[in-house]
Amino acid sequence: MGEMMRQSLVVGNWKMNGTLASAESLVKGIIAGLGSNTAEIAVCVPYVYISGVSELVKGSRLALGAQNIADKASGAYTGEISAAMLSEFGCKYALVGHSERRTYYGDTNESVAARFAQAIAQGIIPVLCVGETLEQREQDQTIAVVNEQLDAVINLTGIAAFDKAVIAYEPVWAIGTGRTASDEQAQEVHQHIRQYIAVKDAVIAEKIQILYGGSAKPDNAKGLFAMPDIDGGLIGGASLEAESFLKIYHSV
Ligand code: PEP
Repeated sequence: MGEMMRQSLVVGNWKMNGTLASAESLVKGIIAGLGSNTAEIAVCVPYVYISGVSELVKGSRLALGAQNIADKASGAYTGEISAAMLSEFGCKYALVGHSERRTYYGDTNESVAARFAQAIAQGIIPVLCVGETLEQREQDQTIAVVNEQLDAVINLTGIAAFDKAVIAYEPVWAIGTGRTASDEQAQEVHQHIRQYIAVKDAVIAEKIQILYGGSAKPDNAKGLFAMPDIDGGLIGGASLEAESFLKIYHSV
């Protein structure tokens, strides 16, 4: 039992980067370098590239994901993209509650929970992003903040929904800053998250993949991935080039 049960997973988050041409060459480069690694791997691409990338990944082990998902099923919600739409294009994953969505676009714990529920309803695996700001860490609020972010979802969907979900611990102060959490700092929160889930459902807690995100790079990924409760990574900047993303993938 223990960590051996869990398959590792590395997810790239391209954010709002790339062109049609760079998206295509990046996906082809990643697929060409997967080798015999059996760990799971995915790219969360901008919405407009989802259709094209869904064709390119066919027959490969590279899975497709979105960076967000609507909090409603359908209707008069101009500019939104529903879980059903993403599902039609073979999206396996969707990020929900990324800190950039929470910070710049008003995602709240409640709307994040609704997005998570929409993903589950369409068989898309939500990658629920949680994590504290620097100020919250300095005020020893890390665990309270993460608990609150988890509780909002658990209260809406119930713990059983986490059977088909991934959690990403992403300290906000580490995202895009070059300032990575130490292996021990990350492990401490990952272990807490697993224990918090275990109180509600021990089987799901053992099984759920908890990814680390925040300036993960080829030179620090191995140490992070070696920690017992870190099951892989959510990779922003370093996922924009096949070489660095693959180096991280092959560290898992
Ligand atoms: C992210 O966007 O989820 C992320 C972890 O970004 P970066 O790796 O660039 O810090």
